[in-house]
Amino acid sequence: MYNVDEKYVLDNFDDAIANDHIKPFFQPIMRTLTGEICAAETLARWEAPGIGLLPPAVFIDVLEKHRLIHKLDLKILDDICRGCRKFADIGVRPLPFSVNLSRLDFDESDFFENVISIFEKYDIPHDAVHLEITESVTLENTEKFTVLFERFRNAGFEMWLDDFGSGYTSLNVLKDYEFDLLKIDMRFLSNIGSRSKILIESVVNTAKALGIQTLAEGVEIPEQVEFLKNIGCEMLQGYYYAKPMSPEDFERFITDFVLPVELPEEREYRKRVGQINFLSVNPIEEYRCAEAMKKFEHHTGTRYPLALMELEDDTLSFPYINSAYLKEMAKLGLYDIEAMQELVNDRTKPYFYDTKKQIESTVKSEAVLKKDYVMGDICYSFTTKFLAKTPKKTMIAINLVVFGEDGIENRFNEINKYNTSLFYNFELVNIIKPDTDESKRIYSNYSFNKVYGSVSLRRGIKEFADSEVYPDDRQRYLAFMDLNTLDERILRDDCSFVQQPFRLKTPEKDYIWRLVRVTRIPTLSDRCYMYSIQRMAPVDIAVIEKKISEDPGMFG
Ligand code: C2E
Ligand code: CA
Ligand code: CA
Repeated sequence: MYNVDEKYVLDNFDDAIANDHIKPFFQPIMRTLTGEICAAETLARWEAPGIGLLPPAVFIDVLEKHRLIHKLDLKILDDICRGCRKFADIGVRPLPFSVNLSRLDFDESDFFENVISIFEKYDIPHDAVHLEITESVTLENTEKFTVLFERFRNAGFEMWLDDFGSGYTSLNVLKDYEFDLLKIDMRFLSNIGSRSKILIESVVNTAKALGIQTLAEGVEIPEQVEFLKNIGCEMLQGYYYAKPMSPEDFERFITDFVLPVELPEEREYRKRVGQINFLSVNPIEEYRCAEAMKKFEHHTGTRYPLALMELEDDTLSFPYINSAYLKEMAKLGLYDIEAMQELVNDRTKPYFYDTKKQIESTVKSEAVLKKDYVMGDICYSFTTKFLAKTPKKTMIAINLVVFGEDGIENRFNEINKYNTSLFYNFELVNIIKPDTDESKRIYSNYSFNKVYGSVSLRRGIKEFADSEVYPDDRQRYLAFMDLNTLDERILRDDCSFVQQPFRLKTPEKDYIWRLVRVTRIPTLSDRCYMYSIQRMAPVDIAVIEKKISEDPGMFG
């Protein structure tokens, strides 16, 4: 297809370098979350006179075979640094460029020094260029490579691992070298079916757990973009966005804002945001930025409290409990598996039956069940998931979270929990808004016939008085509910509410004394009140009946 062979490459290489026939093309790299260009990969092209544009496939192998590739890589680096200098001189901070290095470069003596001297020549900071290395590089010359890798890293270069997943050494490479970014080639996965999705997901998950950035290349279709965005892959590159472009085309592409470009001052910020792991069970706690990673010496494994519980012959046992689960158990005063086992199997305590009941429902529904329990002043939530069973044995996965510690989040949970139980004090709670003539029922455990439901507030008050209030109390009730004087009366009594007892109808059609209260709720806009009906203790009722028989006009 190209009229060039090994001989052509060898005969013309020096000349091509000297005359700038070999030069960098650029392909934009996108920040997934923002859709902005955040970097560009440098890809070599050879403009062969009279032949045309040669892709790397034609000459890279030949140059590697003849140990000439480092000359090409240094030439490309020189071009990049010269370009960066040009931008810097006019006060523009260019995008970071990633440059491909051949694994053979690391065998050259003085390669590191030669790279550094290019950056010195143009006075360009090392973080302006990232170095891409394919993983196979680490297969050979391990010692020499390790030393050079560290030297580049210590000199401030970001090290990018190219073509992750293409070889057989992927996990070893991640273990042995601190790469800053991992490039996953979508083309390794011929179609993006569920198996490749699981693989890519776990690669991203692993990278994030190690504090390594992730980039997917070879992205061609919107489905890939969607998926990669969902799992939190930080950067994307591929024909879907743009093909590699000549320097002139790329400059136009950037300056014309064909695609938006990331602000240099946002680079570090975006990078940190990118480190949150959407795939983690606890993304917030497991957020791991590079610095935190360094301090993170004792990796305690997963933080999700997890245990396996087996039920056999009416006895519960725990074949597996992780450390996070043990921690939660300790909050309940249970310090080891034996104590836990003893408690849940103790038939004189409610826990056995509670737990067993939840397990039975879990098995029956074959689903996930989450229930909250109270033990003293501690609440805990117990989540159970059915896994498997035989006629004799049943296995359940369980998660335990204990609230009631002093953390703000736990407090909040606790308040919320008791918040709802406050409603047990009332038979009816409505929110009423006189300005808009509205009434909304919040809670009711008693069936009044008319409860200011679908009708307007003012009409509701009238209907409730006629239908539910004892005839002798009706006038007083309407005066009590007079919306025009409500604020005035609340202010006069110097508390946030007004309250009076009324005889209200029961389902049996007789009347019982109840306490009706209207409480002002602080709001910024429209006036808003809580209207509540509460039962009274017999002793209070007796007092009221006695008083009212002595002074029928006592409520004014
Ligand atoms: P690579 O580093 O994996 O570069 C990505 C290759 O994928 C590029 O091919 C790029 O044009 C292509 N590509 C980008 N997006 C898509 C896409 O969506 N679909 C498809 N099908 N392809 C896409 P290219 O430019 O032909 O480079 C091939 C390889 O040559 C590079 O693979 C790299 O290993 C090597 N190479 C390129 N430039 C240099 C260089 O300056 N020095 C060294 N040592 N190697 C280089
Ligand atoms: Ca590359
Ligand atoms: Ca690649």
